[in-house]
Amino acid sequence: MLLGLHHLIPAFLLPTGFFPPEQVVFETQRLNNTGLPVPNPTHSFWIDSPQANPLAKEGSSGPLTRDADVCIIGAGITGVSSAYHLARNLGTGKMVVILEARDFCSGATGRNGGHLTPPVFIGFYDRQQKYGTEEAKKSYALENYVSSKLLKIIKQEGWDEDLDLVEGGRITMFMTEEEEQKARRDWETARMAGLERVDEVRWLEREEMQAKHGTSFPGTFFHSHNLWPLKLVSKLYSLAKSQGLNSGIDIRLHTRTPVTSISHINNATSSSARRWSLATPRGQVNCSYVIHATNAYASFLLPQLRGEVVPTRGQVIAIRPNLGAQVGRSSWRGNGGFEYWFPRYRREEERPLVILGGARDVAPRFEKDETDDSVLNVEVGKALRGFLPPLFPGMYDPNQEVEWEWTGIMGYTTSSAPFVGPVTDGITSTRVEEYEGQYIAAGYTGHGMPRAYACAEVVASMITADLSGRGNEWTAPAWFPRHYLMGHNSSA
Ligand SMILES: Cc1cc2nc3c(=O)[nH]c(=O)nc-3n(C[C@H](O)[C@H](O)[C@H](O)COP(=O)(O)OP(=O)(O)OC[C@H]3O[C@@H](n4cnc5c(N)ncnc54)[C@H](O)[C@@H]3O)c2cc1C
Repeated sequence: MLLGLHHLIPAFLLPTGFFPPEQVVFETQRLNNTGLPVPNPTHSFWIDSPQANPLAKEGSSGPLTRDADVCIIGAGITGVSSAYHLARNLGTGKMVVILEARDFCSGATGRNGGHLTPPVFIGFYDRQQKYGTEEAKKSYALENYVSSKLLKIIKQEGWDEDLDLVEGGRITMFMTEEEEQKARRDWETARMAGLERVDEVRWLEREEMQAKHGTSFPGTFFHSHNLWPLKLVSKLYSLAKSQGLNSGIDIRLHTRTPVTSISHINNATSSSARRWSLATPRGQVNCSYVIHATNAYASFLLPQLRGEVVPTRGQVIAIRPNLGAQVGRSSWRGNGGFEYWFPRYRREEERPLVILGGARDVAPRFEKDETDDSVLNVEVGKALRGFLPPLFPGMYDPNQEVEWEWTGIMGYTTSSAPFVGPVTDGITSTRVEEYEGQYIAAGYTGHGMPRAYACAEVVASMITADLSGRGNEWTAPAWFPRHYLMGHNSSA
């Protein structure tokens, strides 16, 4: 019999995570219709720290851009990465407009845990079983690609300090023997398959964890990063705008401009030669191509994704430990991935601010089908507050006041893979006629930081190819898994 965490910590101190597997919830889907993002979200450390979001209300008043080659819906990491890739490749004389329902980057990207961490090998066994070795390997290659590309841009542009980039690595803590054994199986199968980076994984025994990190659970270490996601996206937008200007491409942003519907333009009766008309409370915007970068909210404009991209609420707290530098600089993942945290150090502060998210597993439906990020879940908040103190004795005070607490909405898919590429009329259908010119990159299942940039690149390259009449010649990058394509990624 496997010895679980239950044997090590008194039951009343048990961290969260001992509930039925999360995917079971999909079988009892409520299929609520997703609406627009709520107008008054909770305040996140990333967004609401002073001067953190200079683009917050960009383009929210004054004249609305009425005509564009490409309309991007959503100004998170997907929408802005799409603009960045289009600004480099679309061709001179083109117009790209981003329409955002709330403030700039006020969705999941502005409310997440701040980790830019490809999983390296975690979960490999299941992905290999589901999609085969090559497809599974590509899904890891895509994340390594994103991480190395973003880091390259950050270094080249000298953004490291502005983004609070930390190369502290990732420790995955195994709180039960089941978790450790699963990870060992992932690691073995990944090694057998020749997965890149797997040799850099270091296994940390209990003694080493105790001596170095003050916890008695074993784990693994590999290289990874954390940063300020909103600041990355803000800088990427400014870079896209200036690169666009240099190559004759106009990139514009209209925040507080929700898209409420999309309709086909009848070119026989309309003066516009565009394909699609996007309705907003500020007026119509006509365009030839649409990119749905709305993640959790995708099914509002694409009802075929109802129950397929499931809005799922995540909650995060920011707390101070009792100690200073001893807390280390690594980011952590524990309880099978339900909790994730990392310490942020500021020069003037003695103790770091620890950003900790998770604990959805104490909610009966894992916070699935929840679209309201203006509220906190009290039970989830309690579980988050109680999570770290028993794992790191003496390091955290269970009665410590939290400094920040917020929620954000993630887009979960039944397969865990995102939907990328031309919009189809169903998730197992490859028919695109009805949606010609509409593309999507969404549904990262709570793990978009190391994926969105590449999914946006794929979509942007498809549009660029189509626009230049070479759509049929488009070929997927070597790192792109075919099962990410909408129409090809059912959970079967
Ligand atoms: C609490 C939490 C913790 C997380 N932690 C991590 C982590 O540590 N690492 C990681 O990799 N990932 C994490 N994620 C997931 C990650 O943040 C997302 O996968 C990623 O940010 C998705 O980016 P996006 O641009 O696709 O979506 P979003 O950032 O959500 O952007 C979509 C935008 O579309 C806008 N929008 C929606 N509908 C419309 C409409 N009709 N008209 C106009 N605009 C519209 C929204 O307002 C929003 O700004 C976390 C998410 C949350 C919520």
